[in-house]
Amino acid sequence: MIVVMSSQATAEQIEQAVERLESMGFGVHRSTGENHTILGAIGKPREEDRTVMEMMPGVERAVLVSQPFKLVSREFKKENSVIEVGGHIRIGEDKLAVIAGPCAVEDEESLIQVAIEAKKAGASMLRGGAFKPRTSPYSFQGLEKEGLEILARAREISGLPVVTEVLDQYSVELVASYADVLQIGARNMQNFRLLREVGRVDKPVLLKRGMSATMEEWLMAAEYILSEGNHRVILCERGIRTFETYTRNTLDLSAVPVIKHLSHLPVIVDPSHGTGNWRWVPAMSKAAVAAGADGLMLEVHPAPQQALSDGAQSLTPDKFARLMTELGSVAESVGRGL
Ligand code: PEP
Ligand code: MN
Repeated sequence: MIVVMSSQATAEQIEQAVERLESMGFGVHRSTGENHTILGAIGKPREEDRTVMEMMPGVERAVLVSQPFKLVSREFKKENSVIEVGGHIRIGEDKLAVIAGPCAVEDEESLIQVAIEAKKAGASMLRGGAFKPRTSPYSFQGLEKEGLEILARAREISGLPVVTEVLDQYSVELVASYADVLQIGARNMQNFRLLREVGRVDKPVLLKRGMSATMEEWLMAAEYILSEGNHRVILCERGIRTFETYTRNTLDLSAVPVIKHLSHLPVIVDPSHGTGNWRWVPAMSKAAVAAGADGLMLEVHPAPQQALSDGAQSLTPDKFARLMTELGSVAESVGRGL
């Protein structure tokens, strides 16, 4: 059971509610958010317990949730969550969020070039990794702090908010001081310490699906972030491992309607990592929008053949601009816009 305290609840009322839950035999998980304190009752609550709690002073509502994920579930919150980024972008409403940029920040000139061209083509946010999770320790690992500084300059020049990955719990504060959205990569989806740490930060989090994660595991990972008080989570489907080897991953577009059914959180799709080849990116981008995704994450590089990572799946700025034009009518057909 989730007990939502009213935004005006006093500290004393919160304590009384905690004591009441404990006296009924429940463990209590307390999550202090921006406006509300939320109490999670751990145990097997019944309808009678819910009614008791809803009558207590300072309690706004109490909800029984049957799913293992609670705060992220549609049972807990019926309306779609809309996540605000950088003060002017809203993810989860009619307008689709398109996050474009290179896999990694490589140098200032090329990032600024991509940022300006992506903005012109209609992108709403800029991506680029400063800390890269690479399969080989000998591959390019990212420019780290210098990469973050370059991202900040590209934001200043283009006006696009920036999304960048945070690799471990030790660099959350540093990355959060530059980024508008913190990306948790597929390889870190179940790094529970990192999830808890970004759950305590006042920045939206883009949570990628782990490459072998079920949808339930993915939602449980999001639950870690919300349970620490940060409710601004955007889910990102980026393909899962299957027996198929022709594509880098198998982009699981069925995740879009399923997640929308199970959760109120927005979900976007990354067809670049999902397919591993720029040729398949336009078709899968259109399919993602048709399936109801709230946005896309696309790798765009000015010279993909020379990219330090993921060149094979990167669109040139020209191809990206063409795709944006083609996406317009697909978006319109499902009641969305770009
Ligand atoms: C990325 O977005 O560059 C990335 C590393 O993605 P993923 O975590 O989905 O592999
Ligand atoms: Mn990449």
